[in-house]
Amino acid sequence: MRAQPKASHFIDGAFIEDKAGEVFDCIYPATGEVIARLHAATPELIEKAVVSAARAQADWAVLKPVERGRVLRRAADLIMARNRELSELETLDTGKPLQETLVADATSGAEALEFFGGIAATINGETINLGGDFAYTKRVPLGVCVGIGAWNYPTQIACWKAAPALACGNAMIFKPSETTPLCALKVAEILHEAGAPAGLFNVVQGMGPVGRALVNHPGVAKVSLTGSVPTGQKVYAAAAAGLRNVTMELGGKSPLIIFDDANLEDAVGGAMLGNFYSSGQVCSNGTRVFVQSGIREAFLKRLVERTRVIRMGDPMDEDVQMGPLVSAAQLEKVQGFVASGKAEGASCLLGGGTPQVQGFEAGYFIEPTVFSGVTDTMTIAREEIFGPVMSVLDFETEDEVVERANATEFGLSAGVFTADLSRAHRVCDRLQAGTLWINTYNLAPVEMPFGGTKMSGVGRENSRAAIAHYTEIKTVYVGMGPVDSPY
Ligand code: NDP
Repeated sequence: MRAQPKASHFIDGAFIEDKAGEVFDCIYPATGEVIARLHAATPELIEKAVVSAARAQADWAVLKPVERGRVLRRAADLIMARNRELSELETLDTGKPLQETLVADATSGAEALEFFGGIAATINGETINLGGDFAYTKRVPLGVCVGIGAWNYPTQIACWKAAPALACGNAMIFKPSETTPLCALKVAEILHEAGAPAGLFNVVQGMGPVGRALVNHPGVAKVSLTGSVPTGQKVYAAAAAGLRNVTMELGGKSPLIIFDDANLEDAVGGAMLGNFYSSGQVCSNGTRVFVQSGIREAFLKRLVERTRVIRMGDPMDEDVQMGPLVSAAQLEKVQGFVASGKAEGASCLLGGGTPQVQGFEAGYFIEPTVFSGVTDTMTIAREEIFGPVMSVLDFETEDEVVERANATEFGLSAGVFTADLSRAHRVCDRLQAGTLWINTYNLAPVEMPFGGTKMSGVGRENSRAAIAHYTEIKTVYVGMGPVDSPY
């Protein structure tokens, strides 16, 4: 098998296997070929992961922060030096084309390690003047954190969680999605090589039950999940039982609003980026594209022209722009949404079918799909599809579109294309979303907070904002005397 790792798990600084764990296959989505066979973690391995993480964390937390930062920055350099190898593995794990993985996955992970490595030594508290007496605060680590990942960005998600956690002095146990188990093992290996002590970043594999066992473990202080809203609700509830901290990066059905005065090519390009990148498997995608009536015809014409020439094919060919979906189950789900769009009366302008990709007939490919004439009540306008399916909705006025854009339980992201910058800021103020873009879409640099409101999540990843979610404040009151006691 062409991507078989040395063992299923990386615990306490080494690859480890326990064949008693349930077997699951890792499949290359472009061909349906089994590329690795792994075992889910047994209770014994989960225990070993928690015990070794707790031991490593105690030593790591008392290191000088600048030394912790150095380890992370060294790991970032190693990732960049091995970007091609890691990107090829990410392509095998997810099916995303190499054209994307070379620039958006390991590189994004490395930037997170570099950023948090750089600020590790600046994570401080404050002094509070009490008029003679004073208090000071420290930002202290939480302890052992658990990261649970979705399958769309396995390397990036592992690094976006590990980098701030470790920078703040925590240890992390990461459980990848069973669909994409390979890349996080590489991150663990590289962190160890960069000098992270054994146990500081452990990877355990498995399905929901393994995630559940970690979330419920009394030795765990925090859970950061990237996943769907239903899983988020379950994990949040389980974490609440132990009063554990959480970060929840969940799903979305984000609005992308295009006003008449928008630059046409930018608006079309932004909508395509926000619906077709990674075959549409991006949480922040702007899948409800609201287009004002004056630009509608021109927008749809260019959208169809540009979508028609998207190159699908062998994900390892760097000229290929779109690969398959991640799994047969996801393909079936997306096909179901396409069928519902048609059945509920939307016009399918393009796509929706199975492309003929020579040599990859068994892959989970679906054509990029554009629906127009979509209304707010249609299933494709309400539910997260997680595939390359764009819904175009018409609107007339600013007030109307803001109200309709907000009429959803989700609140992850939103976008506005307009030449009128006052309007752009005004509309952003009124949109209920955690991360918004003006005249661009879906850029998520590590310097910028990322996360959702409403049902799309709790907490923020990236930027200095993440520090608050991986530390807690310890306050010390210093009495300068004399003690003013009434007794
Ligand atoms: P899921 O919610 O199905 O799974 C997420 C992770 O949680 C997986 O590792 C899964 O394991 C695990 N899990 C499932 N049940 C439990 C449980 N009861 N306790 C603990 N862990 C559990 O999401 P997908 O993997 O299908 O990913 C797609 C979703 O992720 C979309 O909704 C998308 O919007 C969201 N997402 C959000 C992002 C954000 O930053 N806001 C970014 C990327 C994706 P297993 O896979 O083994 O079942």
